[in-house]
Order: sequence, then C-alpha cells, then structure tokens
Amino acid sequence: MIRNTKTFRNLQVSRPNRQTSVTDSDPLVDNAYKRSLQELIPAIRQKSQNAVTVDRINVKYYQEITTGRLCSCYKKEYDSPEASCLICYGVGRVGGFNVFGTSFDIVDTTYPNLIMLNIRIEDTVWPWKFELIDGQIEGYVEATVDVPSMRDVDALRLFYTGNYIKSYVRKFSDTSWHTLNRGSLLSLSAAEQRLVIRINLSRKTVEDVSPFFTHLYLRYKLVDRDLYVDMPRFGAMRQADNFNLTGLEVTQVFIPATLPNVRVGDVFRDLRNNTLWRVTEVTYNEPLGIRTSWDVNVRAVTSFEIYNQLP
Ligand SMILES: [Zn+2]
Repeated sequence: MIRNTKTFRNLQVSRPNRQTSVTDSDPLVDNAYKRSLQELIPAIRQKSQNAVTVDRINVKYYQEITTGRLCSCYKKEYDSPEASCLICYGVGRVGGFNVFGTSFDIVDTTYPNLIMLNIRIEDTVWPWKFELIDGQIEGYVEATVDVPSMRDVDALRLFYTGNYIKSYVRKFSDTSWHTLNRGSLLSLSAAEQRLVIRINLSRKTVEDVSPFFTHLYLRYKLVDRDLYVDMPRFGAMRQADNFNLTGLEVTQVFIPATLPNVRVGDVFRDLRNNTLWRVTEVTYNEPLGIRTSWDVNVRAVTSFEIYNQLP
C-alpha cells in the first residue's frame, strides 16, 4: 500500500504543468470524437450487420401506418376502427400496414374520383362495401390508379363475395380493356403509369343476392432486397407451443438500421416458419447521433388475431 502511494505521488510530481490553450478545442477530446464517428460507429454497425448475417432470419416487415385515408370501418360514436377489418386491420387508416420495400394502393369506397354505374355503397356495414343497386343486374366501379413505373406487382387481391365479379384494366389513354392480373398490370404500366381499373358486378336475375366487394389491394415492389433480423433460437421457450401459450411468448429481437423506422405496433413474419410477431417495445442504439440498430421486444401473434390475414 505504501509503495503504491509513493509511486502515485511520484507520477503526480513528474507530470508537466498543464498547458493552457487559447481555443476551446481540446485535441484529445476532438480526436476521440472524430475517431469514433469515422471508424468506431461504422465498425459497430458493420459488426451488427454481420451478426444478423450469421443468424439470418428473413422477415417480411409490416410497418403500421399513421397517415392516409380514414378507413370506412371507423365509427365516430365509438372513436374506434373495426378490429376485424380487412382493409385496415384495426389500425383505422386504409391499408393499416405497409410492407417494407413496397408501396400499395387500395381501391375501396373511400377512393377518390370513383366512377360508378348501377352501384351503391352499402354503409350500414363496417367497412363499407360496393354492391348492385336494387333492380339492376349489372354494374361497375371504375378507379384511376397510378402505378409506379417498372415495378414488380407484389400482390393483387380483390376482397369479394359472389360469383359474378370480373376485373379489367386499361391504359388511361386507351379504350381497350384487358383482364386484370399481374401480367396485364405489368405490361400496361411499362407503357403508361396511369391506368383505369374496372370491377364489374352482375347477377342472373334481380331476385338474386348481389355480389359485393370491399376493396382491391395492389402492392408494388420498390426495393428488391431481403430484410433480416436477429432472433434468438427457440429451445425451451418453444415448448410453450405445447400448452397453447404462444400469445404469451415474448422475446427480444435485433433489427438492423437498414429499416429506417420501427414502431410499437409493427408486425413481422418469420419467413422460415410463417410465425408472426408484433413489436411491443422499441429502443435504439444511437451513439453520437448515428443509429446503428433497433432493439425491440416482440410478442408472438396468436392464431386468432387479424394480423394473420395480412397479405
Ligand atoms: Zn378498417
């Protein structure tokens, strides 16, 4: 103890007087800052991404949306959307979620500038739906959509009931109709991004129940890149499945900063086994203002939740 104290004192004594500087800049502090900014943080980020690469879990990531058209399932008197709505999935905004790396368009009863012939909007159900006017055997809904140029059609789905529903598409500048499918959307949008979609409803007699549809869902791929997250492998935890306790399953997940925004309420699908997870808590690592990763808590989505229907 005594020797150590002496050594310490000696060091103190031999230390040169501190130089005063005319500027506020301290080269040691500045250099450390610059070095961490230029070298360490990119290194941490790279290391994080490498870690994800090692334990690659390919996911489809659904970001909950907070803007856009109010869904027709929203009930003012309860100030609440319909939890079972397949247009907004209980979020209240048309679409509900956006799949990372894509953009979507939904033709529903709230779509702007619709043209309708012999069609009425049934607004005593939530969400609202299109159906034939009483006494009519045929009618249609037309919508003008802008398709991003040269993008792959990632999803195309009409939510309908009934037998006699047909969908068509044409260029805005052309009068010839084509059957609506992924191929026709792709080929037409290569020449012209503005397209007109027509959804035709018909029935054999006016006594027949009208076919109806709630919406047409269109999704385009913007980024052709897979997203990976780092998730612990399930050993003992997975045994919860045996007791039907999946809804109580909570775990931590690491998401790389390639995903620009992560929020509570987001959902992702583990593409290895199609399990769904919902984000319940978000924290992030942001040394010196540079985001390197998202650390989130997630819970397993149970089989009876609406998120299982996400396209
Ligand atoms: Zn809704």
